[in-house]
Amino acid sequence: MTDIPKQTLSELINNIKTKKISSEEATKAFIDRSEKSRKLNAYITDSFDRAIKKAKQFDQNPNFDLKLPGIPIAVKDLFCTKDIKTTAGSKILNNFIPTYESTVTQNIWNEGAILLGKLNCDEFAMGSSNETSYFGNVQSPIDENLVPGGSSGGSASALAANLTPVTIGTDTGGSIRQPASFTGTVGLKPTYGSCSRYGIVAFASSLDQAGPMSQNVKDCAILNEVISSYDEKDSTSVDFKRGKYSVELSKNIKGKKIGIPKEYRVDGMPKEIEELWQKGINFAKDCGAEIIDISLPHTTYALPTYYIVAPAEASSNLARYDGVKYGFRSKGDNLIDMYEKTRSEGFGSEVQRRIMIGTYVLSSGYYDAYYLKAQKVRNLIKNDFDEAYKKVDAILTPSTPSSAFKIGEKKDDPVSMYLNDIFTVPVNLAGLPGISIPAGHDKKGYPLGLQIIGKAFDEQNILNIAYSMEEKINFKNKIADWWIK
Ligand code: GLN
Repeated sequence: MTDIPKQTLSELINNIKTKKISSEEATKAFIDRSEKSRKLNAYITDSFDRAIKKAKQFDQNPNFDLKLPGIPIAVKDLFCTKDIKTTAGSKILNNFIPTYESTVTQNIWNEGAILLGKLNCDEFAMGSSNETSYFGNVQSPIDENLVPGGSSGGSASALAANLTPVTIGTDTGGSIRQPASFTGTVGLKPTYGSCSRYGIVAFASSLDQAGPMSQNVKDCAILNEVISSYDEKDSTSVDFKRGKYSVELSKNIKGKKIGIPKEYRVDGMPKEIEELWQKGINFAKDCGAEIIDISLPHTTYALPTYYIVAPAEASSNLARYDGVKYGFRSKGDNLIDMYEKTRSEGFGSEVQRRIMIGTYVLSSGYYDAYYLKAQKVRNLIKNDFDEAYKKVDAILTPSTPSSAFKIGEKKDDPVSMYLNDIFTVPVNLAGLPGISIPAGHDKKGYPLGLQIIGKAFDEQNILNIAYSMEEKINFKNKIADWWIK
């Protein structure tokens, strides 16, 4: 039997169901590896003692009909977990212990999973490298000098390092798909409205979505089936018939029409990314898909649009952190002084930058010129996809314009950092599902990902395409365990 932490989610489920291993053994194995992997800084808070207790309880009274029977899982620290500290990677929530549970995590525990702990992330999920966290940056298990991507960087690092069999992240502009691409793992951003946002620390409410991250497509389907649910507690939750994603997973994609958008050939894109994309096109053809050239003419406006809409919503969402209701409070001479000090000491510089941009674009006199204009462009971007989907069933693009970069390399250059999201943000602006699958390595041996974008609520279709391509690609992650103590 493979080392427990190196088993895939479906292997683990199988081994627990057939009593080859107990939940306690599995939980202890992941805890042991996590303890030895502190160097990665993947965890903000661990709940190891509680996890062992829960695993023992499961073993005493097992229910093997559950979808995640006794499976230990660590999650991004953006999901509120009842009675367990939830920080969103920020000093301002450093002492916040929620009294309620997010719907997505509740769905996971309802299916028998056990919380291992809360994983590091960029502050309020703002970032592409996990360097904006108040709790320090996360290292990539691929190479100690590399960022794991962001904002779900702790999730990606923990997953790639086998500290958790699967994990969940959130994706506002690429924060699941980009770190998945950087670490050779699979990440799915579901259609907006398919996973509840209830209990997820809000960044930009019209873009935020939770989603699964995994070692392979099948595990991704299993987890998506668990987390995707209609929820009355989220007014943007959509009541559609959710598929049995893992059961209906199929490699037969014969005749599927896959679009290749010419606007994604951006200037200065490394040759390796171009080659990877071509390789992906060939694999898709090998799988029986038909390749069709398409145009998404407003793609170039997606990034500037995102960097108006997202900060605007963030500035409004983050107004609630005032030192009164919850979280960190600074001493002040009077109420206004207390607000000011709390917010300037409690938020990091990237968050403050976004609040300033957001407040500016929403302010009287600039609202029409920026925010309203951005909303109109957002509509055009969505219309591009609607047009394209009259001709194709899915769209194939690279996930990111480069492989993982070095820690510190882009930290002081926000624009170059923002450029990372160029292929992922259009998907959030249009509310569509997108999956990143590992598809190759660059010449330094760093992973590269391909993105498959689907029609709204068509997760099954992109999972099937990913599943079928995954077999052809046969990707092997190059991880050397350098960080293990
Ligand atoms: N990197 C993007 C940003 O900084 C996306 C973040 C996300 O998806 N949460 O806003």
